[in-house]
Amino acid sequence: MFSDKKDFQEAFKKKLKTQFGKTVDTATEYDAYRTLGALVQDHVNENWLKTRQEYQAKKAKQVYYFSMEFLMGRLLGNNLLNMQLLSLVDEGLEELGLSLSALEEKEKDAGLGNGGLGRLAACFLDSLASLQLAGHGYGMRYKYGMFDQQIIDGKQVELPDDWLSQQFIWEVRRPEEALEVRFGGHISATENDNGDLTFNYYGYEQIQAVPYDVPVVGYNNDTVNTLRLWSAEPTVDDTLTKAEVESHYGHFLDHKRSLEAISEFLYPDDSNEEGKRLRLKQEYFLVSAGVQSVIRSFEELNLPWSQFSDQVAMHINDTHPALIIPELMRILMDDKGLGWEEAWEITQSSVSYTNHTTLVEALESWPVDMVRNLLPRVFMIIDEINERFCQSLWKAYPGEFDRIADLAIVADGQVKMAHLSIVGSHSVNGVAKLHTEILKKREMKRFYDTFPERFNNKTNGITHRRWLLHANPSLTSAITEAIGSDWKEDPKQLQRLMEKKDDLAFLDQLHDIKQENKRNFADWVYQTQNIVVDPNSIFDVQIKRLHGYKRQLLNALHIMHLYNELKSDPTLEIVPRTFFFGAKAASGYHFAKKVIQLINRIAHVINKDPEVNDKIKVVFLPNYSVSVAEKIIPATNVSEQISTASKEASGTGNMKFMMNGALTVGTMDGANVEIHDFVGDDHIYTFGLSSEEVLEYYRSGGYSSRELYEQDDRIRHTLDQLIHYSPFSKGETDFQDIYDALVTHNDEYFVLKDFADYILAQKKVSQDYQRTRQWNLKSLVNIAQSGAFSSDRTIQEYARDIWQIDRVQSLK
Ligand SMILES: *Cc1c(COP(=O)(O)O)cnc(C)c1O
Repeated sequence: MFSDKKDFQEAFKKKLKTQFGKTVDTATEYDAYRTLGALVQDHVNENWLKTRQEYQAKKAKQVYYFSMEFLMGRLLGNNLLNMQLLSLVDEGLEELGLSLSALEEKEKDAGLGNGGLGRLAACFLDSLASLQLAGHGYGMRYKYGMFDQQIIDGKQVELPDDWLSQQFIWEVRRPEEALEVRFGGHISATENDNGDLTFNYYGYEQIQAVPYDVPVVGYNNDTVNTLRLWSAEPTVDDTLTKAEVESHYGHFLDHKRSLEAISEFLYPDDSNEEGKRLRLKQEYFLVSAGVQSVIRSFEELNLPWSQFSDQVAMHINDTHPALIIPELMRILMDDKGLGWEEAWEITQSSVSYTNHTTLVEALESWPVDMVRNLLPRVFMIIDEINERFCQSLWKAYPGEFDRIADLAIVADGQVKMAHLSIVGSHSVNGVAKLHTEILKKREMKRFYDTFPERFNNKTNGITHRRWLLHANPSLTSAITEAIGSDWKEDPKQLQRLMEKKDDLAFLDQLHDIKQENKRNFADWVYQTQNIVVDPNSIFDVQIKRLHGYKRQLLNALHIMHLYNELKSDPTLEIVPRTFFFGAKAASGYHFAKKVIQLINRIAHVINKDPEVNDKIKVVFLPNYSVSVAEKIIPATNVSEQISTASKEASGTGNMKFMMNGALTVGTMDGANVEIHDFVGDDHIYTFGLSSEEVLEYYRSGGYSSRELYEQDDRIRHTLDQLIHYSPFSKGETDFQDIYDALVTHNDEYFVLKDFADYILAQKKVSQDYQRTRQWNLKSLVNIAQSGAFSSDRTIQEYARDIWQIDRVQSLK
């Protein structure tokens, strides 16, 4: 692209002039960001075209990853990194008096997701392109993404994320590829001469799905895949006369608004489904547009339908896009004239499904009436799938009413999306070993008994390009100096860092890098929050969505306990620690919002108390997002992964921290178990109930949080501070609900049960941190073992076991 720095600078100045009418002296940082983006885009476009042509020429099987969420974050830095232009551009801009990192800050996060599930989809896209796999994302172009969080008077306030108010420079609108999606209306069946039924659909509402394509740039391989985001736009009915248009204009505007509402906003609930009609509309909108577009591409190949699943794999990220199963059936039968059996074979062999959670409140089910009214033909097909499935069960398990009712797709007036997803696909995977075992042995046991061959595990991963190469350039250089650069394309080779475990100079270097990152982060915290933090204190971080099961409350209560200890003995020596939190709560999740308020109250009390604030400090970082994560993770010493065992399906935050040399304090949950397997007991701090113990308590009872409250003075004292007069309650009732959840309602997430063990684990952390060399060694081991958690490993497993696709060579 650019032969050298000079070449880049000339191109940059030229673009600035021709496209933006500016010179380097008159350009704002925003102008410069736009200019750089446009330059990158020019180059990307060439490779984008080449990649498409290459896939066509090779008739490469295409994977479509359907997800209601893609939490992409910023793209400029990552695109430059993947195009191997980062240092050239950085230096080139510097000579022009510009700073690349300042320009990167001008980009708004593409926050089209809630948390882990959406970020996983984004990491997968990066790995697909970087491994030269023909895999694309299909998602929603929400006008408003994840809300902006502000903390006002210590409480969360949500502001709309108007991210498109600043142009999203990476997208390309493709109106010529728009498709129609239909809702509502009625179906009539007519029988033709052969006795076959045909279904006529009338009285429906029609809406245009317009695709906006975003390039996904692979690492050092000239591959550019596509993230296709669908936007809902009203169809203009050009059969109306002028008079009709005028008289209907007001009506038209209402109508327009109601149609556009489909892609208006992202539902801000993580691991919780509310059964809202508009959400169902969104899901079907993505599915219908996506499936139609996939079929259109397939038809361009002029191949028989029997080869569909050799050419196409469609993956559903959780059950949200599960309607692709009846939608594909509908199109194959109603529009393409295939019979049920053939359509079913094609559907099952092309669709695969990832389960992300066993939390009941997260399992999707839709009222039959809602599905039938909104999607009459799709519902008929779901009903028929259910009918046939139940009949087959009846043959396999004659007389077992109970089992059949339990497995049915439509039951109790609800359509169960997980059941539909399992029945209509050829692969069902969990996202970490423990999670998959829980699915097989408990949550989906009866499905596993019926279809054992469908179940498999794919432990999640994260892209080491964004989370290490880009987020932590100093560590990246140090690693490369130590073991060469092959690990960048083969992250498993990070293991070679184990050779450095006795290399004191290298361990010191790791320490220096962490300290430098901590100082930089401390500066940012000071500039943005006006809070002074000590880079010599332990940086202890819990950043993730706020949820009861993730137990931010356990962390908060521990800090209150430390405060109490320091207040009762001001001479107490403790290793200074700064506790950072970042977390958004779903707007309707009352308890989660109370926990945010409590954390902010604790911060308020502790940070201004000179008796304790040189030893402990608490910082709540507002608006936790991908770009905030990229700043804090390289500066972290201690990673808090403290979910109630069995509840966190995998976690991916845990992997990002590990890769950046933080040590985990964690329960044996999700992928923490596998991190523990890789690093060994000495390099992780595990504590708390096991998943078996938790599940056994849920099944058989036997836990009394009130007993613990009465027996353990530390617990009682701390909890009483929530409701009685104390620095934290200020005599008000703000935290009564938290107290009640813990004491009166028997502590659903075993916070009190794990409290004592958590204190011990944290004491150990403090002791170990003082032995710097040993700590640095632990940090090294974590980095060295983190290659297994690259999403490249995960995607290679999906490609081999589920999608059956290979690398498309020869692009570079
Ligand atoms: C990685 C990531 C998550 C997921 O974090 P967990 O700790 O696994 O829940 C959520 N949000 C953002 C912005 C992330 O980058």
